[in-house]
Amino acid sequence: MSASHSLDRNDLLAEKRSAFDIPEGVIYLDGNSLGVLPGHVPARLAEVVAGEWGTSLIRAWNDHGWIDLPGRTGDRIARLIGAPKGSVVACDSTSVNVFKVLAAALSLRPDRKVILSDTGNFPTDLYVASGLKTLLDKGHELKVVAPEEVHDAIDETVAVLMLTQVDYRSGRLHDMADLTAVAHGAGALTVWDLAHSAGALPVDLAGAKADFAVGCGYKYLNGGPGAPAFLYVAPQHQERVTSPLTGWMGHAAPFAFDLDYRPETGIGRMTAGTPPVLSLSGLHAALDVFEDVDMADIRTKSISLSEFFIAEVEARCPQLELASPRDPNRRGSQVSFRFKEGYSVMQALISRGVIGDFRAPDIMRFGFTPLYLSHQDVADAVAILAEILETESWNRPEYRKRSKVT
Ligand SMILES: *Cc1c(COP(=O)(O)O)cnc(C)c1O
Repeated sequence: MSASHSLDRNDLLAEKRSAFDIPEGVIYLDGNSLGVLPGHVPARLAEVVAGEWGTSLIRAWNDHGWIDLPGRTGDRIARLIGAPKGSVVACDSTSVNVFKVLAAALSLRPDRKVILSDTGNFPTDLYVASGLKTLLDKGHELKVVAPEEVHDAIDETVAVLMLTQVDYRSGRLHDMADLTAVAHGAGALTVWDLAHSAGALPVDLAGAKADFAVGCGYKYLNGGPGAPAFLYVAPQHQERVTSPLTGWMGHAAPFAFDLDYRPETGIGRMTAGTPPVLSLSGLHAALDVFEDVDMADIRTKSISLSEFFIAEVEARCPQLELASPRDPNRRGSQVSFRFKEGYSVMQALISRGVIGDFRAPDIMRFGFTPLYLSHQDVADAVAILAEILETESWNRPEYRKRSKVT
């Protein structure tokens, strides 16, 4: 029996790897930044371009259902995040969706002024909240506390609690159900960013009674570079909110060309302009790989991979310091280690085909995507990492050069 068989003998998801095109010699630990290309997507995209656009032209909006693609794609994502049909739509970028749902949430709490978030949030969410606050000019305050202080900072002044469930640097996982219940107890609403959750771990938006959520299409959902993001509005809020970007695609009858805005019934009102059919088709097709997968199996394997990675790194790379929670139940599907020269070490790793990424000032980040990673990959990656650290082969000028994207 080969080493790979002995390490991965209980892997229920092992055969899923063949659904992806992974370049020879690459161990990909960055699916939390840009997911891998599912093998069937290029042919599907070629069909959309030549068969649908090229042949049907304008008729394709009806004949190939392009007009309903945001909702149909949203429904596929809904299954992965515990949301009912008709509550998720795929559109815009995560940043734009944060703007839309945060504005909608604030409109439901007009007498309150505090947007509560934490220092573990992804900066774009905070930037957007700050910009919205300035635009509204109604005296809102963006209060940003440490992640462990969120619970106690929720009080009757808070209009909206806006958090990213899994910290993009450390992988720390917030307890969505608990914090949502505390927020509701204080009369506040919640906006959850699922960028590092959707497709990575089981999420139960309905069970947690979350009010609003957003998430990313190009990370664990493998939708491709710049794939549309998604947003969720709990069914009980859908008819009570409108998007602050009242574009024609969110109109009840876009092709009536009324001069006045009238929101569509349901989640469609949160869309603004014409959907990006090519990239949306890529995301829709990429979601095929999740069709027969149970998110609980993904979580089990994710924990197994990340626990194995931590144990191996701590045994073989004493120079590195764990920057993620040690308890797997408090982590998402990524593991981070601190090292002062982490940037150079990551460049050296990438040159050897082990692809993770780096987040300033000293975080080496490794994402675990159970659909296409094995325990053997983890063992091989750590062996290369240990060798780079031991020989200090990272200490070369070419590994110090900073690129625009890290
Ligand atoms: C990746 C990520 C985003 C990205 O937003 P874009 O608008 O797609 O650039 C937003 N929020 C979080 C938490 C992220 O991890």
